[in-house]
Amino acid sequence: MRLASISVDLDEIPNYFGIHGLKEPEGPERHLVYDVALDRLSALAKSAGFSLTLFAIGQDMARPEAAARLKRAKDAGHEMANHSLDHRYDFVRLGRDQIARQVEDGARAIEQATGMRPTGFRAPGYTITDEVFEVLGELGVTYDASVFPCPAYFAAKTAKITAISLLGRESRSIVDTPMVLSAPRQPYRVGRPYWKKGRGLLELPIQVTRGLRLPFFGTSITLASLGMGKRLARACVGDSLVNLELHGIDVLDQGDGLRSLAKHQPDVRVPSETKIERLRAAIGELASAGYSFVTLRAAAANQGAA
Ligand SMILES: [Zn+2]
Repeated sequence: MRLASISVDLDEIPNYFGIHGLKEPEGPERHLVYDVALDRLSALAKSAGFSLTLFAIGQDMARPEAAARLKRAKDAGHEMANHSLDHRYDFVRLGRDQIARQVEDGARAIEQATGMRPTGFRAPGYTITDEVFEVLGELGVTYDASVFPCPAYFAAKTAKITAISLLGRESRSIVDTPMVLSAPRQPYRVGRPYWKKGRGLLELPIQVTRGLRLPFFGTSITLASLGMGKRLARACVGDSLVNLELHGIDVLDQGDGLRSLAKHQPDVRVPSETKIERLRAAIGELASAGYSFVTLRAAAANQGAA
């Protein structure tokens, strides 16, 4: 059986300013992910006939409009999943108690807002540790989807953080151990260390292609030509699960109020209509290859049954 899941990390706009070491915006652009992107993503999902898995950040639920919009998405059939309470980029360094609080309070805030208790978790910035996996197991999380075994992304992130510090700014991002690059690229139960197979929590790694392990995720699809995006999709065909990860910002552009960010982030310069068309084409390629689209929760349950 060939399953594909499309998940979206709902990182709000100030996070991106933080990554680039820039001062956070003060205006309505702070809330573009919930106020604008969520509707565009829901429309894409509805027209293509699939449900999304939405990784929300708990603290965003403190804004009633965001909570109401997420509830509406849940009522439309999308899965609620947990992207931590505060999206701290130093999440893995907080110590066990604070890590547990970030996981538990994040899930609770999302449940209070939407009525659906998240069972899946994704760490901020794709960085995870054995300690986090232990905490997730203790808190009853049924799957994690944070491991991103992608050499190209790893190199680009390291280069970006270095470049930002050379400019005299400080990025809030941190880099994972390079050993994560040796992790399986298909669902597995984590061992110790977590990049090896074992009997621990179920990990659903973020999608990379076969062979070169190129990233098949929102940024690479929205920045690539239509044809290149389809080729990336075809390089994943054959996998039992294609776990396509997007971000809310993947369907926003500078015209939405992100001109100051566009200077630092090329994907923000691509018009949102173009980005959505590219996403639709890449997803369509999976559909024509016979993939059925399910939420990550359903994909995780299917792994359990297999
Ligand atoms: Zn995130």
